[in-house]
Amino acid sequence: MFDVDTLAQRWDLPLPGKGGERVRSGAAAVETAAHALARASLDCCVKCTICETACPVMEVTELFPGPKFVGPQAERYRNGESVDHSIDYCSSCGTCTRVCPQGVKIAELNNQARAVMRAQNRAVPVRDRLITQTTLMGRVMTPIAPLANAALANKPIRVVMEKTVGVHRDAPMPHAQPQSLAGWLRRRTKRTHTLVPAGSRGPIVFFHGCAGGYFEVETSKRAIEVLEHIGYEVIVPKQGCCGLAAQSNGLYGQASAAVVRLCEQLTAAGKDLTIVSSSGSCAGMLKHEAHEIMGVDAQVLADVAPRTVELSEFLRDLDDAGELPHRFRRIDATVAYHAPCQLKGQNMGMPAIELMELVPGFHVVESGRACCGIAGTYGLKREKYEVAQAVGGPLFDVVREVNPNLAVCDTETCRWQIEQSSGVKTVHPIWVLHAAYGLSRLAGIEPRPNH
Ligand code: SF4
Ligand code: SF4
Ligand code: SF4
Repeated sequence: MFDVDTLAQRWDLPLPGKGGERVRSGAAAVETAAHALARASLDCCVKCTICETACPVMEVTELFPGPKFVGPQAERYRNGESVDHSIDYCSSCGTCTRVCPQGVKIAELNNQARAVMRAQNRAVPVRDRLITQTTLMGRVMTPIAPLANAALANKPIRVVMEKTVGVHRDAPMPHAQPQSLAGWLRRRTKRTHTLVPAGSRGPIVFFHGCAGGYFEVETSKRAIEVLEHIGYEVIVPKQGCCGLAAQSNGLYGQASAAVVRLCEQLTAAGKDLTIVSSSGSCAGMLKHEAHEIMGVDAQVLADVAPRTVELSEFLRDLDDAGELPHRFRRIDATVAYHAPCQLKGQNMGMPAIELMELVPGFHVVESGRACCGIAGTYGLKREKYEVAQAVGGPLFDVVREVNPNLAVCDTETCRWQIEQSSGVKTVHPIWVLHAAYGLSRLAGIEPRPNH
């Protein structure tokens, strides 16, 4: 008989939180998945199949029977036991939940069922443990960045990695940087000229995520510099991983512990301050996923979630309030923009497009595609790589057609996937604003005065 406590504790050990609060344990989180679930929405399914026509994975492979089947239909029967393993082919992109007219939490059901499956399995693949340790990877790779990058670009090494660890030889890998964001912050000289008097808008907390701390350092720097340029005092506390990769791999204990620890670190920077994140997916984890999917009920998460805002959303809201300086230089370019699924799930519209189109001469073509296929760590896996490439294929075509030199997307792993698979340099929207404020060039384009 399936004993959820025993299995979850064996394979996904809980970690205690600090400050007298206990992190919801791996066992408790899987208990949520097994019994509470998004099950309340289950019986609202009217079998319209809209979710099936929208699911990007079902469209490209017969290995996945689709959201309706593995979601509400299967959930009626599994009740925490004997999960159909085809559920592992769900990428957690969330498209099905967004399109369901009945409000069935299909993607959430699938995610929770995957956690139950992990708890039932005798072992979690080493690969899934490794690829969820982003901070550790950053710490190890940064001091040996040239060597680490050369190794990850070396075909024989990648073939060995594929055979031993199960990460596909052609999958996009993070690019190590010679200096972490923390290193840059320690050594940098602040810009003296700002558009709005330095610090006059008061303090905000910057949440960069683990990728932004080690691999996407340039994006983090540009985000900080833009925020400072428009008058904020940017506080960057020591911070770890939000646990999203672990959550999407069904490792709820590890993910729950990580997100609570992160909330404690962000709160230490100031209890009432707005938290701005340059990673759309990590922001989503804090805003709703940790609570809604894993049932994390720590008070510190409840305090942090409503204070967390995605960077483009923050700047768009500032603009709506008439407080975003418009002293932009001109950038004559047309680019494709892909909105990551993690952002679409936050019901904020597409603030990045609204912001970029404020820049004179800059035109944005929304990709109109559901998914790039990577879905965090999904597209890295040997057995999922071809599926992920097929899912992303139409997007890569759009990106190349619109501009072969530059594309824009908000989330790290999606950028790596788009850039590697389309061959087009792909940047965070903040790069466009940074250049438009005259703080940098944009992928070789020199912004001009706007007369
Ligand atoms: S879209 Fe919603 S209601 Fe329609 S089949 Fe899918 S889960 Fe059921
Ligand atoms: S989350 Fe995405 S991949 Fe999974 S069933 Fe829904 S639409 Fe399909
Ligand atoms: S772009 Fe990335 S975040 Fe997106 S829909 Fe695709 S996998 Fe999901």
